[in-house]
Amino acid sequence: MQRELEEHVLQLICKEVAVGHEPRQQQQQQQPQQSQQHQSQQHQSQQQRELSSEMLAALHSVFPQNALAALDILDRRAVTEITCPAGRVAHQVAGKGGRVYFTLVDQGFCECAAYEYTVLRNEVSMCKHVLAVRLARATNLLQHERISDAAFAARMNPSAPP
Ligand SMILES: [Zn+2]
Repeated sequence: MQRELEEHVLQLICKEVAVGHEPRQQQQQQQPQQSQQHQSQQHQSQQQRELSSEMLAALHSVFPQNALAALDILDRRAVTEITCPAGRVAHQVAGKGGRVYFTLVDQGFCECAAYEYTVLRNEVSMCKHVLAVRLARATNLLQHERISDAAFAARMNPSAPP
């Protein structure tokens, strides 16, 4: 039951974030200095979207253990979407301590210890990394990285021989 509720609320939030901001006109005119423009080649094509205070409250009440940590990950822009020519998609989350966690968010998989000890034992429905990735996708707070198929395979299975 709890897991279904969590999933339901998260889906609602992500949907709300996506549609809630489309019609609104972008009134911000942030054009700082021209000199800052070629500092990154990142795709800025998609507008970032914000979580409303109601959504944040819902997140905290439904994910009391993980909401804060997931939002911190978003604040740090620590989620990267990795794609490869074969069309596979994975996400990685940079932890504060320098470790990087790979996730397969649609499967709910993460390589962190919390996944093994709490998600697989049905104590929570997802770890903070998977929650963060789902929120990052909804809000467009994603970094992007495209790598080769071989590199993708190697990253997904780092213990395999090269
Ligand atoms: Zn995790």
